[in-house]
Amino acid sequence: MAKYTPMMEQYLRIKADYQDAFLFFRLGDFYEMFFEDAINAARELEITLTKRDAGQEDPIPMCGIPYHSAANYIKNLIEKGYKVAICEQVEDPKEAKGVVKREVVQLITPGTVMESNMLNEKNNNYIASLSHFEDGSYVIVYNDLSTGENRIALISHGWDAVIHELYNQPIKEIVISSNLPEESQQQLRDRLQVTLSYQDEVNFNAEYRNLCEKLNDERLMKAFSRLLNYIQHTQKRSLDHLQQAEIIELANHLSLDMYSKRNLELTETILRKGKQGSLLWVLDKTVTAMGSRMLKKWLERPLLVREQIEERLNTVEGFYQGFIERDSLREILKSVYDLERLSGRISYGNVNGRDLIQLKKSLEKIPVLKETLKHFNHKQIDKLAESLVFPEHIVSLLDISLVDDPPVSIKEGSIIKDGYHQQLDTYRDASRNGKQWIAELEKKEKQDTKIKSLKIGYNRVFGYYIEVTKANLHLLPEGRYERKQTLTNAERFITPELKEKEQLILEAEEKSVELEYNLFIEIREQIKEYIPELQYLADVVSKIDVLQAFATVSEANNFKRPRFVDQHLAIKNGRHPVVEQVMKDGSFVPNDIKLDKERSILLITGPNMSGKSTYMRQLALTVIMGQIGCFVPCEEADLIIFDQIFTRIGAADDLVSGQSTFMVEMLEAKHALSNATDRSLILLDEIGRGTSTYDGMALAQAIVEYIHHHLQAKTLFSTHYHELTTLENSLETLKNVHVRAEEFEGNVVFLHQVKDGAADESYGIHVAKLAELPIALIDRASEILHQLENSEKSPTQPEKKSSSGQLSFFEEEKPIKALDTNSKQDDKIIADLKDLNLLEMTPLD
Ligand code: ADP
Repeated sequence: MAKYTPMMEQYLRIKADYQDAFLFFRLGDFYEMFFEDAINAARELEITLTKRDAGQEDPIPMCGIPYHSAANYIKNLIEKGYKVAICEQVEDPKEAKGVVKREVVQLITPGTVMESNMLNEKNNNYIASLSHFEDGSYVIVYNDLSTGENRIALISHGWDAVIHELYNQPIKEIVISSNLPEESQQQLRDRLQVTLSYQDEVNFNAEYRNLCEKLNDERLMKAFSRLLNYIQHTQKRSLDHLQQAEIIELANHLSLDMYSKRNLELTETILRKGKQGSLLWVLDKTVTAMGSRMLKKWLERPLLVREQIEERLNTVEGFYQGFIERDSLREILKSVYDLERLSGRISYGNVNGRDLIQLKKSLEKIPVLKETLKHFNHKQIDKLAESLVFPEHIVSLLDISLVDDPPVSIKEGSIIKDGYHQQLDTYRDASRNGKQWIAELEKKEKQDTKIKSLKIGYNRVFGYYIEVTKANLHLLPEGRYERKQTLTNAERFITPELKEKEQLILEAEEKSVELEYNLFIEIREQIKEYIPELQYLADVVSKIDVLQAFATVSEANNFKRPRFVDQHLAIKNGRHPVVEQVMKDGSFVPNDIKLDKERSILLITGPNMSGKSTYMRQLALTVIMGQIGCFVPCEEADLIIFDQIFTRIGAADDLVSGQSTFMVEMLEAKHALSNATDRSLILLDEIGRGTSTYDGMALAQAIVEYIHHHLQAKTLFSTHYHELTTLENSLETLKNVHVRAEEFEGNVVFLHQVKDGAADESYGIHVAKLAELPIALIDRASEILHQLENSEKSPTQPEKKSSSGQLSFFEEEKPIKALDTNSKQDDKIIADLKDLNLLEMTPLD
């Protein structure tokens, strides 16, 4: 078999190290892909698949994209979760002996993109790493390469907690060790649907020391190194903007199980997967992208420490009261550029003159920002103002060095101001003087020759020339000019002294462009030194932005500052922050809620569509809003600080892992029951619905009892098993509430009002009537209902009850019987059939 060509050998060698990525192999002006890569890329990118002769008998599959339009193709692949290895020619082809040397200069992965066209400015782009240790603990590290943020969490209580933690964070990629048990890897794949990457080598590099100052545990250092090693392996360049790793004290934050963030639609809706309709959508009145990202982070990790919550609330109150000043504050914030991502790009060397001018303009706003904050006359806001330090050195450096309107390119000059650098001024003088000399020459030639239309022009091929129209050629003196080019109706000439000047001018220009480039890099490097300062500033500005957003949204929607009391929760006229927005017309019906030691479980009954789950969600959202430091949708609120929220709400089937609705329901319930404390909030909506009536009711009852006896967590439990309402008699702290609906002229009217006591059971029948089921059927249903109401069957012995709910195979006879006039005879037949002993019968019998 023939060997591959040397270039193809080189390709295969490089590709071997990047098996899980598309290798973009630079060939002149193209990135080429070969073999499987080519086939897959052609499919994913919808580009033509061709073939290339590579020394083998059969040509190999190939496809390519022009290097200058690669960005969009890369974006496309990254968004689909792939990785792209960029392999460049690293020596000048003219100087190469044999095949040009090539190397992968960057591995772009979903979690490590830096290119602004691939980043959403309002979202962080997180990559995480997961490390496991022999003592059973896990460490998760989060990094956003675009902002330099690093955060680390130690989880000592098991794998389940790891999944819940990761699920709640918007990560794009996760880096693990290849000896993480396969079962766990599979769960990550199924549950998180993110790109999985491997990094087994974990070396602590001395360069990391300053990033690790706050890490006091060897496990944390190791885990952090895993991620840093991976980032270095993929990026192969300066990572000066990485910030010190912060430890996330999970115990200081409200923990949301993985179902809650999704079920409660905190940052995106379940169905449309978009922000619109989520709590974030209502709350996001930030004006900067940095603020928007911070708000999302806060929502994903509400607080638990009362002082921290109150501190935020105090500031929000200050912003709330100063509504006039708030308008000016918002205006100023609008002109602050994304300092956080800019810092990342400065470190990466990805900024141009315009970016640095933006930086300057943003920083120039700091003094006015401080001044505006002072006008609120508020202690907490003053503190924020004081923490904003005007980085005068950066502003003045940019001010003396850069022109106000630099071009996009940093390689074509016109970036640096006159007077900034002596040598540059000299070059520029030379070029300007030369041009001046040429302008004067033109004037003089015109006078001498008396040709009014004579002009001196410039093009890249011939340089400077004197142009004379054909009609005027006879006016030119003999021998003074050298003919260079003939056009249709003009001739172009040069003179030795013109060329001499030209040389001076071009040389000066070339040198000055080169010098400008170097000066720009120098300035960028100087600013790099101040990155931590910029990042700190970005953090304070983001905080100000989020807190003013809370004030703005609270004012617009009439939210009220909650009080945090230890023992009881009482919300007067609470509302669902999102549903009330969507309804717009003000028709949302507010409701009270009370929970305390004596009233810790509310069993909510009421017809479908009456508002049970809205009521439950409304409580959870109010709690979360309070614990991120925002005002809450109600007239008055006393809140408890909850440690965890567990939810089983709605029909959000777990399509991802292919489990049945009922299984998911049970898993969610299990997670709540095994982790909740008396400081937790549990919301269970229609639990048990997914299985047969008896099963479901029995489980529902057992779950409520378990919570009552063992957990004492505050719980809202909605159910359509009316039988469960008698639990109020046996469970001391369980209280019935119901959502009111009334019958009006034969129709059910939903009042959406929540009242104490159990619901009247007959709405289902009204709804059936509304749906125009046969009158005989409706009458029969009413009759059965009446019988049931008069029977004494207790919910603690559900097996004795008649089958009124979901059908099971052997119970089907009853509804049939109900509609049949010959029911007595049927009864006999059915009884006879039941008496048959199938084992002793022949087929003929
Ligand atoms: P259930 O859980 O009882 O089936 P939902 O909570 O899903 O009912 O509510 C059904 C619909 O009723 C909601 O989509 C909403 O439009 C409306 N609704 C619920 N609560 C209220 C309320 N308090 N005020 C006005 N409309 C409401």
